[in-house]
Amino acid sequence: MKIHRYLRNVSTLRFYPEKCTGCGRCVEVCPHRLFQIENGRAQLGDRDLCMECGACARNCPFSAIAVRPGVGCAWAIMISELRGGREVASS
Ligand code: SF4
Ligand code: SF4
Repeated sequence: MKIHRYLRNVSTLRFYPEKCTGCGRCVEVCPHRLFQIENGRAQLGDRDLCMECGACARNCPFSAIAVRPGVGCAWAIMISELRGGREVASS
């Protein structure tokens, strides 16, 4: 499966590991599999893969994740259009 990477370092995704209990909900809901559970706590992977859908933050019962849904995704699409579709996707 091709992996879509958005613009680098623009994601609003924030993770606060000190609040995480390792319940695993973020692992279940993230369409890009950014989270894994290791040693009883979530570990965040490559933030540039985040499409800011907001599912992880909405489903985290302990407010360990914050994201502004749609901001980075919309920005990436806009920049991609302006640059002829070259900026958004890479493998
Ligand atoms: S949903 Fe929240 S508390 Fe549960 S594993 Fe993910 S970050 Fe940790
Ligand atoms: S906002 Fe969506 S894509 Fe980004 S980490 Fe959360 S669930 Fe995954």
